[in-house]
Formats: sequence, C-alpha cells, structure tokens
Amino acid sequence: MAQVKLNHIEKVYEGGFNAAKDINLHVKNKEFVVFVGPSGCGKSTLLRMIAGLEEITSGELYIGEDDVTTTPAKNRGIAMVFQNYALYPHMTVYQNMAFGLKIKKVNKKEIYERVMEASKILELEDLMDKRPGQMSGGQRQRVAIGRAIVRHPKVFLFDEPLSNLDAKLRGQMRVEIAKLHTKLDATMIYVTHDQVEAMTLGDRIAVLNDGRLEQFDTPMNLYNKPDNIFVARFIGSPPMNLIEGQLSNQEKGLRFKDTSGNLEFDIPEDFQKRLIAYTDKRVILGVRSESITDKRDAASINFQGTIATIELLGNEQIIAVTGLTDTVICRVSTKRVCALEDTVELFMDISSIYFFDKESEQRII
Ligand code: ATP
Repeated sequence: MAQVKLNHIEKVYEGGFNAAKDINLHVKNKEFVVFVGPSGCGKSTLLRMIAGLEEITSGELYIGEDDVTTTPAKNRGIAMVFQNYALYPHMTVYQNMAFGLKIKKVNKKEIYERVMEASKILELEDLMDKRPGQMSGGQRQRVAIGRAIVRHPKVFLFDEPLSNLDAKLRGQMRVEIAKLHTKLDATMIYVTHDQVEAMTLGDRIAVLNDGRLEQFDTPMNLYNKPDNIFVARFIGSPPMNLIEGQLSNQEKGLRFKDTSGNLEFDIPEDFQKRLIAYTDKRVILGVRSESITDKRDAASINFQGTIATIELLGNEQIIAVTGLTDTVICRVSTKRVCALEDTVELFMDISSIYFFDKESEQRII
C-alpha cells in the first residue's frame, strides 16, 4: 500500500477548459480520502489523472515514492471501481474477477486463491457461477470491487461506485465499503457528490469547487471549522444559514446588526479581538440550524420570524422562517404546534456562530 501525493496538479482540457487548478494533496498510506463537490467541480478528472486515464497538464503525481506523472495506467499499481461496474456480461463472477490476472499471466493456482480470498471478503462465494445479468446492482458492485481486490493494488480508486443503487442499498454498501477499508487496511480514494457518503466514509475529505481545492480536512473539522462560505454551505444538511449584516463599535464593544434590522446583538467577548478589523464593514454571520431553536438558554439571543415551510421529522421539526435579511432554517421541538404564517420567537446560540469576510468569503471566526 502507498501514499499518493499531488503537487501543483493542473488539468487543461483540449479547448482550454481548466478542470483542475493547482491541486496540492497528500493522501497518507492506508488513509481513506474522499473527493467531494458539486457536479462539474473536477473530482472525476482528478481521480482519472491519478488512475492514469487522463493526462496531467502540469504538476507531479507520486504513488508511494515513485513519480508516476507520465506512467501508463497499467503500471501505476492502482485499481479502479467505476459507477457502472464495467463487468463483462458474458463472463461468470469468477471469470470477471479472474480476467485481469489472466491477462497479466498470473498462474492459475494463484488466480484461484486470490479470487477465492476476495469472494470470501465480499461474501460472494455462492454467486461465483452467475453472470452479471442474473445479479442485483449491489451484487454487481461487489463483484466490481472484488475485481479490484484480486489485483492487490497499492491504491484503490472509487468513482461514485454507489450512485446507481437505490437509497437503502447505498446505505448498506456504504457500511460494507467502510468495513472493507478496515479489513484491507488499504489506501483508498473515493469520489462522490453525496456529502453524507463523504462524511461517513472519509478519514479526510477534499472539498472541490470549480477545479479548486477549497479545504482538505477531517469530517468534523469541515463541519465545525469550515475555511470559507463554500465549505460551510456544502457540508451539513440543511446548509449553514448565512445572514448579511454590519459590525459597529458601541460603548460595550462590537455589535452586529443584520441588514433587515431585526437581529441585533453584542458580539461575545471572546470574538471581539478577531472582529475589530471589520468595524463598520459588511460581514456574513453563519449559524447552523441546530443553533437556532425554540429553547432559550444563557448564550442565546432572541428574534421573531414568520414560518415559511415546515418539515416534520418525528423527533423534531425543521422550519424555515422569514423576517431577517435571509430566510433561516431552524430546528424546533415537536411539542410546539407550528403552522405556516405563524410568528415564532426563536433563540440563537451566539456561542456557536461564525463570521465570514463578505469580500473574500473566508471564515474570520
Ligand atoms: P460529476 O459529478 O458531474 O461527474 P465532476 O466533478 O466529476 O462532475 P468532471 O467530470 O471532473 O466533474 O468534469 C470537470 C469539468 O471538466 C466539467 O466542467 C466538464 O464539463 C469538464 N470536462 C470533463 N471532461 C472533459 C473533456 N474531455 N473535455 C473538455 N472538458 C471536459
């Protein structure tokens, strides 16, 4: 198994489209790293460059200690699992899994041992004589993963492997892939646009946007310490609320007032120093939905809103309220009877708020 290092990687497609912009990433040996981002952000391009299926325009790529920037795909020691399984329809499960090894002229006994070992790990033993057409989507994807395992690669690459499966099966396969990572103790890079998949699978997650790496960090750090507005909105569901406003210097120190004028509060002592440079400037207040509730506590400030939408989830209600500069999403107890157009008093926990620079969109606090 091996580390993967991307140094200043750029991809410019024919026609001039820049799909990867100065990407620097170091995937550690045995780490599970997820590339996540919206459609078109360049995550598949990046994975395909690591695989050797796409030429690297500039920069260097290392797998282990080797510079593989221009090495052909077959000599990189990687195995890739695709979204559409890419199985041979006329071959049995055994033949599909054995095929790559046969091409490499691995001897029959070893092929048998490796295929059996992988089929045991993936619980495919009873399906070895079936053809892909006789199997479910989840089973086919397990075969595709099996085909990668038998190659004993240095690095596993997964390109949205679960996106053809229904929600329930996707959940089950997600757990299986996490277990597989523990069992194989392998370096894995996994592409998805699904942030839940990213958060549950990744040791670290690379958040990509428009060909740029926005942040590379642990799931909890992305959630609790997003570097910028893009990450704050992309990670977490519902996305972080953003409320534009201004800071002013008052007798008691800095005070925030949102653009609507309906939310106003003194900035907590601990935040004053870091925000002083933003006096009289426009800033974006960030607050997660779990920090705006119908419960008052010591660190909360109150405001009034009008209910625009209600999502009853059983254990709680997620409501969208208008009244501030922007609509905000909050979580309230199911004990509270809510109706559309009702006015509600809500409490924001200002010990867990964020501030972003309006111009650069970088987090200040
Ligand atoms: P998705 O989740 O939709 O698969 P992605 O993040 O994986 O998206 P890529 O497939 O890496 O995105 O594509 C990144 C950008 O590069 C897109 O804007 C795409 O249109 C462009 N692109 C991809 N392949 C080519 C190509 N062969 N020629 C020109 N542009 C391309």
